[in-house]
Amino acid sequence: MKSFRKELHVHTKTRRAFINITPQVSAALAESGIREGLCLVNAMHITASVFINDDESGLHRDFERWLEKLAPEKPHDQYDHNGYEDNADAHLKRTVMGREVIAAVTSGELDFGTWEQIFYGEFDGMRDKRVLVKIIGE
Ligand code: ZN
Repeated sequence: MKSFRKELHVHTKTRRAFINITPQVSAALAESGIREGLCLVNAMHITASVFINDDESGLHRDFERWLEKLAPEKPHDQYDHNGYEDNADAHLKRTVMGREVIAAVTSGELDFGTWEQIFYGEFDGMRDKRVLVKIIGE
Protein backbone atom coordinates (compact mmCIF):
# COMPACT_ATOMS: atom_id res chain seq x y z
CA MET A 1 0.00 0.00 0.00
CA LYS A 2 1.20 3.51 -0.82
CA SER A 3 0.49 6.61 1.18
CA PHE A 4 0.76 10.25 0.16
CA ARG A 5 0.49 13.45 2.21
CA LYS A 6 0.17 17.04 1.06
CA GLU A 7 -0.83 20.34 2.68
CA LEU A 8 -2.83 22.95 0.79
CA HIS A 9 -2.54 26.59 1.86
CA VAL A 10 -5.45 29.00 2.13
CA HIS A 11 -5.57 32.70 3.03
CA THR A 12 -8.97 34.32 2.49
CA LYS A 13 -9.49 38.08 2.13
CA THR A 14 -12.74 37.90 4.10
CA ARG A 15 -13.68 36.48 7.51
CA ARG A 16 -15.95 33.88 5.90
CA ALA A 17 -15.61 32.19 2.50
CA PHE A 18 -16.32 28.97 0.66
CA ILE A 19 -13.58 27.85 -1.74
CA ASN A 20 -13.83 24.97 -4.21
CA ILE A 21 -10.62 22.99 -3.60
CA THR A 22 -11.51 20.05 -5.88
CA PRO A 23 -8.86 21.04 -8.51
CA GLN A 24 -6.09 21.10 -5.87
CA VAL A 25 -7.22 17.75 -4.40
CA SER A 26 -7.38 16.20 -7.90
CA ALA A 27 -3.86 17.52 -8.58
CA ALA A 28 -2.64 15.97 -5.32
CA LEU A 29 -4.22 12.67 -6.35
CA ALA A 30 -2.47 12.79 -9.73
CA GLU A 31 0.83 13.62 -7.99
CA SER A 32 0.37 10.63 -5.64
CA GLY A 33 0.12 8.13 -8.50
CA ILE A 34 -2.46 6.19 -6.45
CA ARG A 35 -5.15 4.57 -8.66
CA GLU A 36 -7.35 2.73 -6.12
CA GLY A 37 -7.88 3.79 -2.51
CA LEU A 38 -9.22 6.53 -0.25
CA CYS A 39 -8.58 10.25 -0.11
CA LEU A 40 -9.03 12.12 3.19
CA VAL A 41 -9.25 15.91 3.11
CA ASN A 42 -9.47 17.80 6.41
CA ALA A 43 -9.18 21.32 7.72
CA MET A 44 -6.20 21.65 10.07
CA HIS A 45 -7.93 24.41 12.05
CA ILE A 46 -10.85 24.41 14.47
CA THR A 47 -12.56 27.40 12.84
CA ALA A 48 -12.65 25.98 9.27
CA SER A 49 -14.43 23.10 7.53
CA VAL A 50 -14.03 20.78 4.61
CA PHE A 51 -17.29 19.50 3.12
CA ILE A 52 -18.75 18.15 -0.11
CA ASN A 53 -21.65 19.89 -1.80
CA ASP A 54 -22.80 21.72 -4.93
CA ASP A 55 -20.75 24.50 -6.53
CA GLU A 56 -23.73 26.85 -6.79
CA SER A 57 -23.48 30.44 -5.57
CA GLY A 58 -27.11 30.66 -4.41
CA LEU A 59 -26.60 27.61 -2.20
CA HIS A 60 -23.45 29.17 -0.75
CA ARG A 61 -25.41 32.33 0.16
CA ASP A 62 -28.02 30.04 1.73
CA PHE A 63 -25.30 28.34 3.82
CA GLU A 64 -24.05 31.75 4.95
CA ARG A 65 -27.52 32.95 5.99
CA TRP A 66 -28.39 29.63 7.67
CA LEU A 67 -25.12 29.54 9.63
CA GLU A 68 -25.57 33.17 10.71
CA LYS A 69 -29.05 32.27 12.07
CA LEU A 70 -27.63 29.28 13.96
CA ALA A 71 -24.54 31.05 15.33
CA PRO A 72 -24.54 34.81 14.63
CA GLU A 73 -21.07 36.38 14.69
CA LYS A 74 -22.31 39.38 16.71
CA PRO A 75 -22.80 40.49 19.37
CA HIS A 76 -19.48 38.98 20.44
CA ASP A 77 -20.39 39.04 24.14
CA GLN A 78 -23.20 36.52 23.67
CA TYR A 79 -20.58 33.72 23.78
CA ASP A 80 -18.61 32.47 26.79
CA HIS A 81 -15.65 31.63 24.49
CA ASN A 82 -15.21 35.28 23.47
CA GLY A 83 -12.89 36.63 26.13
CA TYR A 84 -9.55 37.34 24.45
CA GLU A 85 -10.92 36.04 21.10
CA ASP A 86 -14.03 36.89 19.08
CA ASN A 87 -14.41 33.68 17.10
CA ALA A 88 -16.88 31.53 19.04
CA ASP A 89 -19.30 31.68 16.10
CA ALA A 90 -16.54 30.30 13.82
CA HIS A 91 -16.00 27.28 16.09
CA LEU A 92 -19.75 26.58 16.09
CA LYS A 93 -20.12 27.01 12.31
CA ARG A 94 -17.17 24.70 11.69
CA THR A 95 -18.72 22.03 13.90
CA VAL A 96 -21.97 22.13 11.93
CA MET A 97 -20.23 22.01 8.53
CA GLY A 98 -17.77 19.28 9.53
CA ARG A 99 -14.04 18.78 9.78
CA GLU A 100 -13.26 16.43 6.88
CA VAL A 101 -14.40 14.40 3.92
CA ILE A 102 -13.29 11.03 2.57
CA ALA A 103 -13.62 10.38 -1.17
CA ALA A 104 -13.18 7.03 -2.91
CA VAL A 105 -10.39 6.86 -5.48
CA THR A 106 -11.21 4.73 -8.53
CA SER A 107 -9.05 4.43 -11.66
CA GLY A 108 -6.95 7.37 -10.48
CA GLU A 109 -9.93 9.75 -10.13
CA LEU A 110 -12.07 11.07 -7.28
CA ASP A 111 -15.13 8.81 -7.53
CA PHE A 112 -17.83 11.48 -7.19
CA GLY A 113 -21.52 11.78 -7.93
CA THR A 114 -22.48 14.25 -10.64
CA TRP A 115 -22.58 17.44 -8.54
CA GLU A 116 -20.17 16.61 -5.77
CA GLN A 117 -17.34 19.09 -5.22
CA ILE A 118 -15.00 19.55 -2.24
CA PHE A 119 -15.14 22.89 -0.43
CA TYR A 120 -13.03 24.60 2.18
CA GLY A 121 -15.29 26.60 4.48
CA GLU A 122 -13.55 29.48 6.22
CA PHE A 123 -15.25 31.02 9.28
CA ASP A 124 -12.39 33.03 10.82
CA GLY A 125 -10.23 33.99 7.87
CA MET A 126 -7.75 36.66 6.80
CA ARG A 127 -4.87 34.51 8.08
CA ASP A 128 -2.79 31.57 6.85
CA LYS A 129 -4.64 28.25 7.09
CA ARG A 130 -3.84 24.70 6.01
CA VAL A 131 -5.78 21.75 4.61
CA LEU A 132 -4.41 18.21 4.84
CA VAL A 133 -4.78 15.77 1.94
CA LYS A 134 -3.91 12.17 2.82
CA ILE A 135 -4.30 9.47 0.21
CA ILE A 136 -3.82 5.75 0.80
CA GLY A 137 -4.10 2.89 -1.66
CA GLU A 138 -2.20 1.43 -4.57
ZN1 ZN B 1 -11.46 30.49 19.50
